[in-house]
Amino acid sequence: MRPLAEVLEAVSGTTSKLQKIDLLAAYLQSLSDGELQIACTYLTGSPFPAGDGRALNVGWSAIADALLDVAGASWADLDSSYLTHGDLGSVAAELLTRKVRAPLFPTPLTLTTVNEIFSRLAASAGKGSRQIKLEAMRSLFENADPLEAKYLVRIITSDMRVGLKEGLLEEAVAKAFGRSLDDVRRANMLISDIGAVAVLARHGRLGEARLQLFRPFRFMLADPIFTPAEAFEPVRGDSDGGGPPEALLVEDKYDGVRAQAHYDGTRLAIFSRTLDEITPSFPELHGDLRALAGRYILDGEIVAWRDGRAIPFTQLQQRLRRKDPSELIAEVPVMLFAFDLLHVDGEDVLDVPLADRQRRLRALRLGASVQQANSTVATTPQDLEVRFREARDRGNEGLVIKRPESRYQPGKRGRQWMKLKEELATLDVVVVAAEQGHGKRAGVLSDVTFAVRNGETLAPIGKAYSGLTDAEIASLTEWFRAHTVVDRGRVKLVEPKIVLEVAFDAITRSPRHPSGYALRFPRIKRIRDDKTPDEINTLEDVARIYEHQGSSRGGSSPKLIASRGRGQIKHDQIQ
Ligand code: AMP
Repeated sequence: MRPLAEVLEAVSGTTSKLQKIDLLAAYLQSLSDGELQIACTYLTGSPFPAGDGRALNVGWSAIADALLDVAGASWADLDSSYLTHGDLGSVAAELLTRKVRAPLFPTPLTLTTVNEIFSRLAASAGKGSRQIKLEAMRSLFENADPLEAKYLVRIITSDMRVGLKEGLLEEAVAKAFGRSLDDVRRANMLISDIGAVAVLARHGRLGEARLQLFRPFRFMLADPIFTPAEAFEPVRGDSDGGGPPEALLVEDKYDGVRAQAHYDGTRLAIFSRTLDEITPSFPELHGDLRALAGRYILDGEIVAWRDGRAIPFTQLQQRLRRKDPSELIAEVPVMLFAFDLLHVDGEDVLDVPLADRQRRLRALRLGASVQQANSTVATTPQDLEVRFREARDRGNEGLVIKRPESRYQPGKRGRQWMKLKEELATLDVVVVAAEQGHGKRAGVLSDVTFAVRNGETLAPIGKAYSGLTDAEIASLTEWFRAHTVVDRGRVKLVEPKIVLEVAFDAITRSPRHPSGYALRFPRIKRIRDDKTPDEINTLEDVARIYEHQGSSRGGSSPKLIASRGRGQIKHDQIQ
């Protein structure tokens, strides 16, 4: 664990991308295959590979309790250290410099022992699990030196903050083992496990990477566009090419839950956009999905649907929150609208042009609850305007417009797919603080301050009081209380994890918020459980909408829903 912590410290100490890659490559070369697999996962700031399905479920308070115990420190020490560092990893490093509990026979922490402890943590659930987790955390802190503890905590909280994106690690793997970056990227797209990719790279076996049934991979995403005309503009700098398209495939933008279904003739699994398994939530889809074909992976959207129209997303959300969906099945019926086919009967078809993939999808035995997404061809912006209105009339959000020749590129957001949403602009933001409400909301944390991303920092941009139901406020209040990082009485700074979609009437310039912008009449449209804080909108998106609203005032064409970038959020760097 010490060499990993040292390399992470060195990587965070330089802004030179080349130097970061060199440091990482040298470190990766020094590891055995088993260590390489684990180290790469930890370097991405996660305890388990994406799509692995396991989660540690170790909360902030369990980490803090174990830390205070081993360091012999008080909550006041923790608060003041947090206010200085703004990061629980650095707090751990600071407090553990004066450790009071050390084991009689310390065991040096190796990557393998940490991996075993993480597996145990993930496996413990139910009654008594908090005690098990606390013990495991204590033993980690007892055996860790301060630098190791700093990075252990950051891995446990999935918040690495050293300016190490997965793309950079792919470059380091390519460099370490003398392989082409394209081959490394391609393999990682297919198996979503950079550790396994690194081992393949070392042995010259990257070509063997294949999609694996029941190993979910990232979804292809769409870039926002402002107007129908933009869809027909050429795309610059896209490896998949992009002259002005003569024809585009146009689908309704369904407002539901993105789903990747895997089936091998026996087992069926449905994965969400966060790569979590959601199969039990949708029992009524199972029969039709099993009848579709022998073996396949398909991509689509699960929507609450009745009599040919979408039912508001909030009702689907209610179903998702229930452990047992059975009572709501009749009330909130769902459909799966399939729009892509990625694997069928032993063959990966990601590189087949979209128009052909859709043809192959149509040839499957689509059933009552699994339908092909409404897809047509548009050759002019006027076609798109008509289609946009039709999609809105069906209760859908807008359009997703796709280039017919496009490959399926997992995890990619680009102009091969474009989204044109509703007229009202919305932003995806993360909650950074919650405050007690007034009147009947005096007992709950109903007023939230939220931020967009600005590089590696968070920039607060507004406060919202309305839009959530009482039940949602109650459950968020509980979450905020359990994830408060600094308690200022009425106001609590909370872990930046809850993503909200907020609607507003306009963006204004404002010296009041450090972001330099404010939202006029912000209201919460919904909680975005399906999005992580690194998917929220950026300050650049806000500037883009701000500029655009000026130029299009009075126009009737659909407006932007801004794009999202990637990258880890740091709570301490809230501006
Ligand atoms: P947003 O949630 O605004 O980032 O929009 C992107 C999401 O639109 C995707 O992740 C899908 O869940 C959803 N979506 C709805 N309909 C489609 C479609 N026909 N093709 C692709 N994505 C779609």
